[in-house]
Amino acid sequence: MTYTSPDRVLVTGGAGFIGSHLCERLLGGGAEVVCVDNYYTGRRENIRTLLGHPRFETVRHDVTFPLYAEVDRIYNLACPASPIHYQFDPVQTTKTSVVGAINMLGLAKRLKVPILQASTSEVYGDPDVHPQPEGYWGRVNPVGIRSCYDEGKRCAETLFFDYRRQHGLAIKVIRIFNTYGPRMHPDDGRVVSNFICQALKGEPITLYGDGAQTRSFCYVDDLVDGMIATMATPDAFTGPVNLGNPGEFTMRELAEIVRELVGSSVAIVHRPLPPDDPRQRKPDIAKAQAELGWTPKVPLREGLSRTIVYFDTLLGTGRTARGEPDRVAAIR
Ligand code: NAD
Ligand code: UDP
Ligand code: UDP
Repeated sequence: MTYTSPDRVLVTGGAGFIGSHLCERLLGGGAEVVCVDNYYTGRRENIRTLLGHPRFETVRHDVTFPLYAEVDRIYNLACPASPIHYQFDPVQTTKTSVVGAINMLGLAKRLKVPILQASTSEVYGDPDVHPQPEGYWGRVNPVGIRSCYDEGKRCAETLFFDYRRQHGLAIKVIRIFNTYGPRMHPDDGRVVSNFICQALKGEPITLYGDGAQTRSFCYVDDLVDGMIATMATPDAFTGPVNLGNPGEFTMRELAEIVRELVGSSVAIVHRPLPPDDPRQRKPDIAKAQAELGWTPKVPLREGLSRTIVYFDTLLGTGRTARGEPDRVAAIR
């Protein structure tokens, strides 16, 4: 009898929004998944349908402490991602990015396995190059309220590349641009969740500043495709590589699209623009297209419609017909 064990994959931040989708996809691909999370912003509800799966395991652990496990590859996603979450305890945010990266890199070094870092478009700060290619070094305030996240993620990238240079680690650094979809936290304060929840509840949509600032929104399924494609590259490919949808929208346009898709006539009200809020953001994805053969497929309106169904079910607002399909049933 021959026995081949499945790939054991560690996902830190696996109970979060993106992490839970990644865990689900990896299980669907036949991997054994170890989800490590301290539930700071993640929720057991996100992985509820995976609990009990024979190839799924959860570990409650804070990545700022050493972790000993035996795995074949590592996706490092642990870190709060929304401004209100990462600004709530900024020192812990920097520790999670920096000390967490050191520990996960130490783990990858001991095991001699590839490790992928979920970095961010925030490393570009408030950019004066548009769209942002990977070669742009960014314009980041080192002492502002976003710095704990931006500089933490920048330092994590430095660590990844130094472990590569110093220890020959197989690293992959992806820079994720604004991603949205089902399982976003309804109270995370991000623009997509705020606008949809407000429109569903019949509350005014809060537009910060004049609403002329832009973002590019990637649907979570597209992002997960890009993450898997990045991990599958040869050791020589390290990134950094931008993963995002280049469709660029002003926040005013987004507010209007959400209102239209929800079928709501709520007012749009202005609120002050938070400090250091980037004015524009759009990924240059030429590198991802060339090196990974990856292009996002889900248009904004389609992705928003799926996300509206999720929030409608979660909030019980009853404006749409059906909830998120149970995709897990298909992978059992
Ligand atoms: P999320 O907050 O839903 O998920 C983060 C997860 O990490 C949560 O489950 C949280 O409990 C966990 N976590 C936080 N600190 C931890 C610690 N010290 N130890 C263990 N677990 C910890 O956010 P998300 O949107 O799913 O983001 C996932 C990753 O992708 C993050 O690293 C984030 O910086 C990155 N990213 C996300 C976006 C986006 O638009 N969603 C954009 C750029 C980068
Ligand atoms: N580490 C870990 N798991 C391991 C191996 C290392 O969490 O399986 C941690 C370890 O505690 C250390 C960090 O990773 O603080 C960096 O490890 P590395 O070997 O690079 O550095 P050193 O141990 O020499 O400081
Ligand atoms: N924003 C807004 N109203 C909200 C929440 C956010 O106008 O209720 C704006 C915010 O000022 C920013 C953009 O939407 O310009 C994206 O904000 P988010 O917090 O989602 O992500 P990030 O700023 O980290 O890209």
